[in-house]
Amino acid sequence: MTWHVAEDDVRAYARGELAPPMLWSADTHLARCADCRALLAAVTDPVALDAGWDRLDAELDVPKRGLVESLLVRIGVADHTARLLAATPVLRRSWLGAVAALLVMTVLVTNTLKNTQSPTLFLGLAPLLPLAGVALSFGPKFDPTYEMTVVAPMHGFRLLMIRTVAVLATGLGLNGLASLALPGYGLAALGWLLPALALTTTGLALTPRLGPVLAPSLVGGGWVAFLVIADDLHGGTLEPFTLAGQAVAAAVAALAAGLLYLLRDRFDTRPAAFGPLI
Ligand SMILES: [Zn+2]
Repeated sequence: MTWHVAEDDVRAYARGELAPPMLWSADTHLARCADCRALLAAVTDPVALDAGWDRLDAELDVPKRGLVESLLVRIGVADHTARLLAATPVLRRSWLGAVAALLVMTVLVTNTLKNTQSPTLFLGLAPLLPLAGVALSFGPKFDPTYEMTVVAPMHGFRLLMIRTVAVLATGLGLNGLASLALPGYGLAALGWLLPALALTTTGLALTPRLGPVLAPSLVGGGWVAFLVIADDLHGGTLEPFTLAGQAVAAAVAALAAGLLYLLRDRFDTRPAAFGPLI
């Protein structure tokens, strides 16, 4: 072998700065020539090599994204938002399973009571699920990632809204599926939707004053009491599921949403509004 890669070119090769076509010649030659490989090893900066290995190591050690997180990132949600959402306990499988089981039971019970004229039991229970889901999705009592959300570089109210929308979408989606399982009732089976929005926004709007446990409990209890009283008075289709009732539910939801917006700063003093930091 008469030709060898010049030492300057070997150094440039080691730095990754050798340009084609010399790069191609060097590649081919280095594969066959032990002398030039020895020269390459001698001129390669060991510090740069170590740094390269460290970078590769770090890359391999990055925790893998879960399924939910990957999906969220894929549909365009920012990295840190996706991580916080994926860490919301309500979005975890166990909670989803519990909600799904509850809904299946509701549908079974409702179908067994086919002799009644409207799916009252389902309509009465369905709005409570999104309310409970939102209540469970924040607050130190239930949320193992609470510390993380406290130190997250994000507006408290914005984080609350992101989680609320995620939980609402999950709950409304599941309820919607349950409604599809009640085709006999047609659109009447969707009567829970506006009351669900009204209950959830009212529960959130009362949270800064009453706390994350009492507010949703009072709203949910009030809803059940109202249905029982209305049923005692005249049975048949209950007020919330009539056209007028739906309009009232929409108005309540809009009012509570407005109130919630006015109170948005109260959600940024989390320890005060959400109980002591334990
Ligand atoms: Zn050579």
